This record gives sequence, structure tokens and C-alpha cells, in this order.
Amino acid sequence: MLRRDAFDLPEGVIYLDGNSLGPLPRRAEAAVARAMQAEWGAMLIRGWNEAGWMDQPDRLGDRIAPLIGAAPGTVTVGETLSIRVFQGLAAALSLRPGRKVILTEAGNFPSDLYMAQGLIDALGQGHVLRALPATEIPAALTDEVAVLMLTEVDYRSGARHDMAALTAQAHGVGALTLWDLAHSAGALPVALTRCNADFAAGCTYKYLNGGPGAPAFFYARPDHSEITRPILAGWLGHAAPFDFAPDYAPGPGRARFRIGTPPVLQMAALDAALDIFDGVDIAALHARAIVLADRLATGFEAVCPDLRRLTPMDPARRGSQIAFAHPNGYAMVQALIAQGVIGDFRAPDILRFGLTPLYLDAGDIDTAIERFAQVIEGRLWDDPAYRTRNKVT
Ligand SMILES: *Cc1c(COP(=O)(O)O)cnc(C)c1O
Repeated sequence: MLRRDAFDLPEGVIYLDGNSLGPLPRRAEAAVARAMQAEWGAMLIRGWNEAGWMDQPDRLGDRIAPLIGAAPGTVTVGETLSIRVFQGLAAALSLRPGRKVILTEAGNFPSDLYMAQGLIDALGQGHVLRALPATEIPAALTDEVAVLMLTEVDYRSGARHDMAALTAQAHGVGALTLWDLAHSAGALPVALTRCNADFAAGCTYKYLNGGPGAPAFFYARPDHSEITRPILAGWLGHAAPFDFAPDYAPGPGRARFRIGTPPVLQMAALDAALDIFDGVDIAALHARAIVLADRLATGFEAVCPDLRRLTPMDPARRGSQIAFAHPNGYAMVQALIAQGVIGDFRAPDILRFGLTPLYLDAGDIDTAIERFAQVIEGRLWDDPAYRTRNKVT
């Protein structure tokens, strides 16, 4: 399971932020160099045909599909997750024209909420975004709801929704579902087909290690793909892009969800990053992450009993991160980073640590705990330098 040699991690660093940006896979360096020199450099425009650049979105989609329990031919790659959320919501609303409610969780990732608000404004048809605490969502699933939009694993607490149950319940009232898999893909087993999910999207730069700005993936249930008229109708989603026809006609199935030119170099990096998952049992990977998360939580809480754990304990109800609240959270994370233990901070007071067993083992967690003890016992966090927030926290 441990594939540390597959990553180019700086010596001495304990990396607990693969839930935000996965580390550099060694193969990605070589793959990008090859794509630049042998493809872009040597082939120039011919690369679109000769190096298969135009097929990358579908080819990579088919590589991601098994990681999220989707069938071949149902996933495409490109654009950003924010765009994909917009696209999935628009598709769902168009398939439920009589219904006006987008139901989501209060505290969902801001971009998901903003995209919903922007879409509602753009449509101007009186849709509303209803954002409720997780516990109130089942009761709010009524026949007014067009789509239930949820992030499967909460980006702050790491709490995980029951995708199968909520999807079934949404379908019971005739609503569709859009699942954001940002903190699921590559971290835990996802079963889109088995759950009968309608739409899903996720990013590839977190647990999938595709690199900063790596493109998003998008899933639509095949029966929906065939009848959806995309609101973001890009030329590469057209049935015949190189006819350059003035009017849009959607391509078959997932092809219609493509929008613009694929980021070829970034996709070369992602392709190489996905090699690391060949033969990895994602259920076993998640089980290992839970063990590491518990080890870290127990150790950190022993060092600093004031930490308030936000992550649920039930392994079935959480992702591969652990989060704590503490009033000095930001400064603590900064001081830890200075000690070579990289986690991150989310406003207002959350310390967040991702557990990625592809390159972390129990020894790393013990080292992280020792360094956290130095930060707390030496009050290293109590330094004015750690009170000013960086642009990216
Ligand atoms: C990381 C994340 C995003 C990011 O969207 P981008 O368009 O890739 O910036 C969206 N939603 C969730 C839940 C995330 O965790």
C-alpha cells in the first residue's frame, strides 16, 4: 500500500495536506517533460491527432471511473470543479422543469453555494437555494426539490454523507442528486452506479495528485447524458466540433459535457499520477487512513486537550482527514509547518490534517505528534509572525 517512492516529497517533511494538494508523483515530472518535448515541441499542432490530445478527456475519464464506481464511457475530464458543479446543477434543473428548489447543506463548500446562486440568478425562473444543517436534509426532501446537491465528505469536518441512502430518498420524491466528490475521489470507495447517483463531479489535484490546477472530472448517469441539453454549450461538446457549425448540437453521451480545449500538459501529469492507483484497493486505503487519523487524533489530543475534534468517529461516516477546532488554530498550523509538518487551516478556527496512506505511515504520524508537542510545550505558536494570515491558508 505504501508507495512513498512514487512521490517526490521533500526530505524531513510530514505531508498532511494531500487533501488540499496532492504531492508531486515522480512519474508526472517525466510525463510532463515528455509531453512538452516529444509532443508539443516536436509535433506542434499535429499533437492533437498524433499524440491523442483530443481524446485525453475521455481516456482519463475512463481511468477515473473505476475509482468512483462508474462505468466506462460515463466520466469526462476538463474545466474546474466549480464549473462542473454549475454544469451538473444546470443539467439537473433542466431535467426537473417544474421544480424550484436546490437543496444543499449549510456549510457546503463556498464555490458550490456561489455557483448555485449564480445559476439561479442567470436562469431568472424563481429557483431557490435551500441550505440546511445535515441533520435537517432528509426531512427537507420533498416534491418541491429539483436537485439535492451535496459534498459527500465535508471539506472542514471530514464528515461523510450516506450517498446510497440520500440518493434513494431523493429519488423517492422525484428529485435528482449532484454529488461533489472533491474529498472522496482517491480517498475512499465511491459507488456512483450502485448508488444510482445522477450527477457527480470532483477535482483531481487533491487525493488524486494531478497537480495544482489539474482539471476536474464530471459524471452523468448515461440516461441523463442522452437527454440533457448542456447550458455551457462549448464547441468541444458539439456533435461535430470541426464542422464549425453556427448552431449547437450536443455530442453523444458524455461528449456533450466537454466545453473547451483540454489542458494537455496538466492532463499528462494527471495521467501519470493515476498510474499510482493501479492495483490499489481503495477500501483498504481508506481503512488505513482511518487508523492513521485515529493515531494522530489521540496523540494530538493528549498533547493539547483543548483541541475540539470535529470529525465523527464512525469510520463509515468520515473521509480521510481529521479536523479540530481551537482558537489559536491558525498560529498552531503555521508553527507546525515551520517544524516540517504540513497541515492547513480553515476559517474560523479549524486545523485540518489529511491522512494519505500512499505516502504516510504510523512512524510519520508519531513524528508529527512529537513535533506538535514541541509546538505546544514550547509555545512556538505564540509568535506575532503567525498571527498574520497568508492569502492561502
Ligand atoms: C476543493 C473544492 C472545490 C474547488 O473547486 P475548484 O473549482 O477546483 O477550485 C470545490 N468544492 C469542494 C467541496 C472542494 O473541496
